[in-house]
Amino acid sequence: MIDLQHITQEYKTSDGKGTFYACKDVNVHIRPGDIFGIIGRSGAGKSTLVRCINLLNRPTQGKVIVDGKDLTQMSDAELRAERRQIGMIFQHFNLLSSRTVYDNVALPLELVNTPKDKTREKVMPLLELVGLTEHANKYPSQLSGGQKQRVGIARALSSDPKILLSDEATSALDPETTQATLQLLKKINKELGLTIVMITHEMDVVKQICNRVVVMNKGVVVEEGDVIDVFRDP
Ligand code: ADP
Ligand code: ADP
Repeated sequence: MIDLQHITQEYKTSDGKGTFYACKDVNVHIRPGDIFGIIGRSGAGKSTLVRCINLLNRPTQGKVIVDGKDLTQMSDAELRAERRQIGMIFQHFNLLSSRTVYDNVALPLELVNTPKDKTREKVMPLLELVGLTEHANKYPSQLSGGQKQRVGIARALSSDPKILLSDEATSALDPETTQATLQLLKKINKELGLTIVMITHEMDVVKQICNRVVVMNKGVVVEEGDVIDVFRDP
């Protein structure tokens, strides 16, 4: 489903003289239907790696193969189409404050000029799925953190992606809301068949819902495997 091959991301050091590797020769294989965890300290290179999957980062070296297609060889126009297969959710939700819940979820459809009735047919079931039907006309400022994240999830699903990327999606939420959000992601994986790739610094999150995991440190993968093996007590 997703093959990251020899991914290297270089940056200049802050003095401009040297080279710094946010990721160095990283190889990761993600299978269809996985809930794949990427864990590691802040600065380990997790976001950089995940942003390579939808080419928000173009890696300095390496290949990004999604569904058999090499995204690194694509033109910007081809990539735009391909990116619609990949939804993303964020720690700080990234909602538009001037738009209602409905209009936030509808945004990706609007961007490709979807007719209003088709948009409604898509958005209403998604609001139902995430339990926000009665909040459709509210603005983000009127919602709790957990509700905002559910808007983010519904928006990410509106273009019918096959893959959902999650960058610390539960890190700004309290434990109870985190639980509810994880259960929702599990349901989306199971019922809609989405492959989920999630970044987290919380081991418990991985243990709870991921089947596979990589542990990153300083730009390299230090461990990869089934969650039950990686976290098995010695
Ligand atoms: P993580 O998600 O694990 O916290 P990141 O992938 O965000 O790690 O960052 C990895 C390293 O790369 C960090 O040291 C960060 O400061 C650096 N970094 C990230 N983006 C850039 C950038 N655009 N320019 C320079 N350095 C960056
Ligand atoms: P997070 O994923 O934790 O929300 P970011 O992805 O914004 O945070 O950044 C992660 C790290 O990368 C931070 O330490 C930040 O300072 C660093 N970083 C991000 N963008 C750049 C950049 N353009 N230049 C240098 N460092 C960056």
